[in-house]
Amino acid sequence: MPRKYPFTPILGWSVSRYEKFDLCKRWYYYDYYARKHDEDVSPQDLTFLRSLTSASLEIGNAVHDTIATLLHRLKKSISPIDTEQVLSYSSSLVDRAMESKIFLEVYYGQRETIDGADLKDRVGSCLKNFFGSRWYEWLTGEAIPSRSSWIIEPGDYGEMRINGLKAYCKVDFLFPTTEGNLCILDWKTGKVDHPRHRRQMMGYVLYARDICNVAADEVKAVIIYLSEPNEDLESSFSEGELSEFAGQVAKETQEMYRYCEDIEENIPRPKRFFPKQVGRLCAYCNYREFCESEPEEKRAVTCP
Ligand code: SF4
Repeated sequence: MPRKYPFTPILGWSVSRYEKFDLCKRWYYYDYYARKHDEDVSPQDLTFLRSLTSASLEIGNAVHDTIATLLHRLKKSISPIDTEQVLSYSSSLVDRAMESKIFLEVYYGQRETIDGADLKDRVGSCLKNFFGSRWYEWLTGEAIPSRSSWIIEPGDYGEMRINGLKAYCKVDFLFPTTEGNLCILDWKTGKVDHPRHRRQMMGYVLYARDICNVAADEVKAVIIYLSEPNEDLESSFSEGELSEFAGQVAKETQEMYRYCEDIEENIPRPKRFFPKQVGRLCAYCNYREFCESEPEEKRAVTCP
């Protein structure tokens, strides 16, 4: 039975949370704190800006949703998969996103419009790489007899503990193998980035150890890059590497705690303690409108 932790308000480390914190403190504030603590912005404006999507996000969403649907279908029935039908399903997801969502590239005037056909092509190319991969061959062949134990996109937030500190690690797909190990697969639709993804994989291994009670050397974590044909990253980690990683998580958690007025309740310092990091990144940020409209006199304050 996987372990579950009762709710606590204290902040939890995750790869994406710390990356956001590291990139721009103000972006981090808007993502994690503004809804409850920012009186300068209206909740409606915040909800609207948060809902903006982007082309790369929607490619990832369509690919992940399509693969999850395909895996659920394989769990129910072993009749052959019609890959053309899968591609057409993924196109319908792109159509739905185009109809129902506002893209930040258009909202902020970087592009006049989003080319739906191009998005479908890019989603289709990721899925074709998936169909051509050894993992697809394995999932539709050797892995079929044990499919009842597949866990596809677990519905929780992936809460765990790393050396007693709260952390989150959300996995795409995990299952026990016939050799008694636990395998975790994660699909990526963006750029190949081994150092960044190795960190994420160490998180998966520690997640499996904490939540599923599986020894680290019995976990096989694999990142499958779908933007390239036959590209994946499979790593194993020594106890030394895992404990160094746990130390880094502790250091990064402490850094984020310093921006809290009340650590246990996860109450942030005032917004002025979260400086803007204006630069190239702003092109990808939902909250540009807030930053651009903020009066000059609201200067940032350095956090101790
Ligand atoms: S627009 Fe730029 S400075 Fe403002 S929050 Fe976003 S990334 Fe930070």
